[in-house]
Amino acid sequence: MTSIRILVAAALIASALVPGRPALAAELASDTLPTAKGPLVIHPVEHASFVMTWSGAVVVVDPVGDAGRYTGHGAPDLVLLTHIHGDHTSPETLAALVEAKTLVVAPDSVARELGDGVSGRVAVLAHGETVEASGVRVEAFPAYNLTEERLAFHPRERKDNSYVVTLGDLRVFISGDTEDVPEMRSLEDIDAAFVCMNLPYTMTVERAADAVLAFAPRIVYPYHYRGKGGLSDLEAFSALVAKNPAIEVRLLDWY
Ligand SMILES: [Zn+2]
Ligand SMILES: [Zn+2]
Repeated sequence: MTSIRILVAAALIASALVPGRPALAAELASDTLPTAKGPLVIHPVEHASFVMTWSGAVVVVDPVGDAGRYTGHGAPDLVLLTHIHGDHTSPETLAALVEAKTLVVAPDSVARELGDGVSGRVAVLAHGETVEASGVRVEAFPAYNLTEERLAFHPRERKDNSYVVTLGDLRVFISGDTEDVPEMRSLEDIDAAFVCMNLPYTMTVERAADAVLAFAPRIVYPYHYRGKGGLSDLEAFSALVAKNPAIEVRLLDWY
């Protein structure tokens, strides 16, 4: 028995010490980033859905499923929707979430799907356009596939959105479902970035890491990494991003 325990312990130590594979930190239930106007608190919900609270404002990103998972921080001032897929947009969840004060920010393709229930509260944001509400500035960027066999998932013509959200002096990039498109690779002055990676829908961890190295956010949160074959290899992602030691990979509890 003792020898088995020793072997198991040795195997665990060996796996933690594989060169180029840094041991991953614990997954956080929330994270707090300081800004000039007080802390930004990030609350992961699941997969691509999360809540940010900052300076009295509640920002909900791609809420789907039980609305109760988003309401613990108060009614949303802003809801950001990236595109029409079911893991990002749910008219039912939205109807349960929005209140009179809520502004829903979405690309045109999403706004047309939402119907009358929330239509009066939707700001359609095309790429390059900006909207500001509750002191939060939101700019839309393109999200789309580049690889031939994935083009049907997120065609460029549909004009899905990624977003850059400015909260005080902090700039947060939120990827829609995208590959490492030039508009993402050339982002500047990003403090924190939520970056998708899953197959076959978005991109490999190699492409995601390469994009992150290109625009070099201070902090990157891998998210949207559950695909057909299971979860993406976050150890491999972290090892690739570690080429730039100024970029910190932070893991949140998404699943
Ligand atoms: Zn998705
Ligand atoms: Zn999608």
